[in-house]
Amino acid sequence: MDVIIGIDVGNSTTEVAIAEITRTGEPNFLVSGMAETTGIKGTAENVRGVKTAIFAALEKMGRKGIVIQKMFLNNATPVIADFAMDTITETIVTDSTMIGHNPGTPGGHGIGIGYTFDLRSPPGNGKDLIAVIPGSVPFLDAAAELNRLDDAGYRVYGAIVQNDEGTLINNRLKREMPIVDEVEQIEKAPLGMLCAVEVAAPGYGVEALSDPYGIAGIFKLGVEDIGYCRHIAKALIGNRSAVVIRTPEGAISERVIPAGSVGIAGSRFTESVAVDAGADRIMRAVEAVGRVEDVTGEPGTNIGGMIERIKVGMAKQADIKKDEIRISDLFAVDTRTAVRVQGGLAGEHVMESGVGVAAMVHADHMFMDKVAAALGEEFKAPVRASGVEAEMALLGALTTPGTALPLVVVDVGAGSADAALMKEDGSVKSVHLAGAGDLITMLIDAELNIGSFAAAERIKRYPLAHVDSLYRIRYENGEARFLEDACEPRYYGRTVTVPENGPPEVVNCDFSMEKIRVVRQEAKKKVLLGNVFRALEKLDVGKDDCKGVILVGGSFLDFEGSRFVTQALAEKKLSAGKGNIRSVEGPRNAVATGLILRYAELLNGMVKHGNRT
Ligand code: ADP
Ligand code: MG
Repeated sequence: MDVIIGIDVGNSTTEVAIAEITRTGEPNFLVSGMAETTGIKGTAENVRGVKTAIFAALEKMGRKGIVIQKMFLNNATPVIADFAMDTITETIVTDSTMIGHNPGTPGGHGIGIGYTFDLRSPPGNGKDLIAVIPGSVPFLDAAAELNRLDDAGYRVYGAIVQNDEGTLINNRLKREMPIVDEVEQIEKAPLGMLCAVEVAAPGYGVEALSDPYGIAGIFKLGVEDIGYCRHIAKALIGNRSAVVIRTPEGAISERVIPAGSVGIAGSRFTESVAVDAGADRIMRAVEAVGRVEDVTGEPGTNIGGMIERIKVGMAKQADIKKDEIRISDLFAVDTRTAVRVQGGLAGEHVMESGVGVAAMVHADHMFMDKVAAALGEEFKAPVRASGVEAEMALLGALTTPGTALPLVVVDVGAGSADAALMKEDGSVKSVHLAGAGDLITMLIDAELNIGSFAAAERIKRYPLAHVDSLYRIRYENGEARFLEDACEPRYYGRTVTVPENGPPEVVNCDFSMEKIRVVRQEAKKKVLLGNVFRALEKLDVGKDDCKGVILVGGSFLDFEGSRFVTQALAEKKLSAGKGNIRSVEGPRNAVATGLILRYAELLNGMVKHGNRT
């Protein structure tokens, strides 16, 4: 059988569609296939991924005697997308003054205030005290010593423990007290200083120590110190337990890092925006300057470094000189990142504000020619690199049942969001925007302080659940399920992601399931809604110009992403929904399908869409 193959090499996924052309000239789609893109898009290395995808497809067909007549390759919009993020504020603790962290099992509850002392050498009697218990003291000895001090009339009101033994100690005390444990660097805790230890009841957060006025009250600080209190409170909010030690020199400050300004050169004019004015302000400038011609960051500042990193990375990918890189779109979002507090005692983190940016370049040279040549060699068949990607995506999207012109298609992949509008007369307008699936993952990674792109990717893709007990799992939507067999103990008390197929995976992150969910959803809304709205604006889509917005690309495989867009556009009286290419592919395979449809159209001399813009 003679077949033709449509091939879409994306930054992350290679998709193919295989069809035969029937005697009437119509394409008859046989199968499709998919593989991870190998090498950087636009290099001969892509051939390996294409082969895998084609063989995967042919395998499904199980037919021998296939003759490849022609292959069509997406003439990839030559864009390379990259992203970076950085903080613009930084909290510094000079001289150890606070410990605010969430040990799994603090002891006791309530607040204790007193002067710190080393449990191994109790001071004279008379003061209110807080015991500092280094890791070398076994919990049995620690509890015995605290009980002995109690009998001797000492007033010990709380304890700070290096080991994870808060509960073990507390269970053996005659009189309960708040105990904060797992304090890694306990040797840095100053002795003889006024200290407050607070442990909240399960399910609650510390109260006095997460409130500037609470802290001021405990340490008898005046109005001139309220700034100091505010910084501490900020770092302790949401913790179940916390310690604050006030040393005479102790200081804590928030430094605003010179974030610098970003310069956006456009076809109309050039504008410079201070990064700490926020993402909205930056995006307004991006819209205002006309077609973006380049973006620069102020040298010696964070944004300067970010833009530089992006350009260097892109130059390497595209194998062109850094100076020749011109950024053609910038997408900025506000974020909060968990940053380790400098000078903290127990790996404390504080949420600093930051900006994430994604940028995109149009490289001039034709990307896919090399791939086409290598493919032709490999398969001994003619290969044509043809068709603007966004237009092909449109043709493919039109095979979704219920669609009609005028139609907008938004293809959100890993690095870029490509959108196109096709009017009834067949004219097409398209735009390419920076900021897509990778940016969502990066935001999740940063805001939850995950430290692993792969782990953040799992959080993005799958719903969450909490393993309440060995026999009970509670899903993020409130559903609970009892397990017939006890789950593995490593899941106990943990938040997990639940892929549809495959075992749950523990999320390594200190935040609650509810918080993780909020961060995940916000990241998706920022990027997906942000870029869908931007696309509609740039394509100049009015209510009457559009019967629907079809969402395609890997990022709309998301279990909730397309719903966010559908809801937001419904408010604007636009119907939007996930594509279902050829009624069977879901939001996948639009470009590969479009390539084949275009060929059939040309074959039949039915080129309806003459006047493209
Ligand atoms: P490209 O066209 O750039 O090769 P794709 O269309 O394959 O990209 O989309 C890749 C993006 O889709 C990645 O950011 C990936 O995280 C995202 N993605 C893939 N599957 C899912 C899923 N099930 N849920 C959410 N995002 C997904
Ligand atoms: Mg794609």
